[in-house]
Amino acid sequence: MNLHEYQGKAILKSYGVSIQEGIVADNVEEAVAAGKKLNEETGTEWWVVKAQIHAGGRGKGGGVKLAKSMDDLKEKAGEIIGMNLVTPQTGPQGKKVNKVLITQDVYYPGESEPEEYYMSILLNRETGRNMIMYSPEGGMDIEEVAEKTPDKIFLEEVDPAVGLLPFQARKVAFNLGLSGAAFKDMTKFVTKLYNAYVGVDASLFEINPVLKTSDNKVIAVDSKVTLDDNALFRHKDLAEWRDISEEDPTEVEAGEAGLNYVNLDGNVGCMVNGAGLAMATMDIIKLSGGEPANFLDVGGTADAERVEKAFRIILKDPSVKAILVNIFGGIVRCDRVAQGVVDAYKNIGDIPVPIIVRLQGTNAEEAKKLIDESGLEVKSAILLKEAAEKVDEVLS
Ligand code: GDP
Ligand code: MN
Repeated sequence: MNLHEYQGKAILKSYGVSIQEGIVADNVEEAVAAGKKLNEETGTEWWVVKAQIHAGGRGKGGGVKLAKSMDDLKEKAGEIIGMNLVTPQTGPQGKKVNKVLITQDVYYPGESEPEEYYMSILLNRETGRNMIMYSPEGGMDIEEVAEKTPDKIFLEEVDPAVGLLPFQARKVAFNLGLSGAAFKDMTKFVTKLYNAYVGVDASLFEINPVLKTSDNKVIAVDSKVTLDDNALFRHKDLAEWRDISEEDPTEVEAGEAGLNYVNLDGNVGCMVNGAGLAMATMDIIKLSGGEPANFLDVGGTADAERVEKAFRIILKDPSVKAILVNIFGGIVRCDRVAQGVVDAYKNIGDIPVPIIVRLQGTNAEEAKKLIDESGLEVKSAILLKEAAEKVDEVLS
């Protein structure tokens, strides 16, 4: 589950991580009130208006703006709230902005220049350990840094038995080129950040930029937090922060029906039981010249009801030109699945695209017979290769 910047920052703050303070607002009046309150609490006389959407690169798209007076704040909040924000991460259609975060300005002048660093915490799946990825080249596209100057990206792996050790926190501060008060502040920052990551069962923390202010304080200016869905049952309060309006509506509907569905760009819809088989099916679709339109795992019980729901979800995608059903009948018998397909087809009525069904396993022959004799526009196959070739045939 992805969080908004303001939600991520609330988590950081609760773990004692220093942040750029802010107040979230739904409209211009609230934005102005937030600005006044921040002025009282922090003394700030400049503010930043930040669009709250589940995508990065907001600054580049005009979704992060500095305001130098109350009137300026009012104007900029008015521009950003309700805008359709297009960033390098939203896709060309963009995302509508419903909320803004009004923050204090933390790039104020002082004894040194403010400096931006990059820091993220995530799981290294090869070693099974959390790692801190960081770079003195913050604020900008980290992908670009990784490509052009990979030596400026550092990794620190954490042993789960002992957690982040003090020498590791010092190493991070050292590699970022810090000294004095900022060095000390950075060791605290990274230690608390790591505790927060573990504490909320996150799968990603990305703080870009981490800022060293002109008076040598280290604070989080941005936050991208992804929580591990499998651990959400332990964080009921955080689970309530889910913002469904930011998610793909079809994926939300599929999730409610217990189907594991991810929308993709291609033209061949897939309905498969089991994640591994779903991956293999997507591969073979590609090999035979098609492009998968989705990943869909109907799970262990491919009964008529679920099959019907799955068809309806796949058909919502207008780019689907054919559907490949690939079910392995182990515990669930193929003839029952075939009957489910036939029933679902009849219930939905007119399915405008060809369907290729490949059933393998217990009672596969009976299943094929059932489909072939149904009189419906459904082609059957037993071998996956044969099924993929039939998809190719109907597409060309
Ligand atoms: P992103 O573009 O979605 O990654 O949003 P960020 O929260 O990272 O903000 C984008 C950029 O806005 C930062 O890299 C900064 O350059 C700038 N910015 C953020 N906070 C402040 C601030 O308090 N003062 C000033 N002057 N600029 C800021
Ligand atoms: Mn950022």
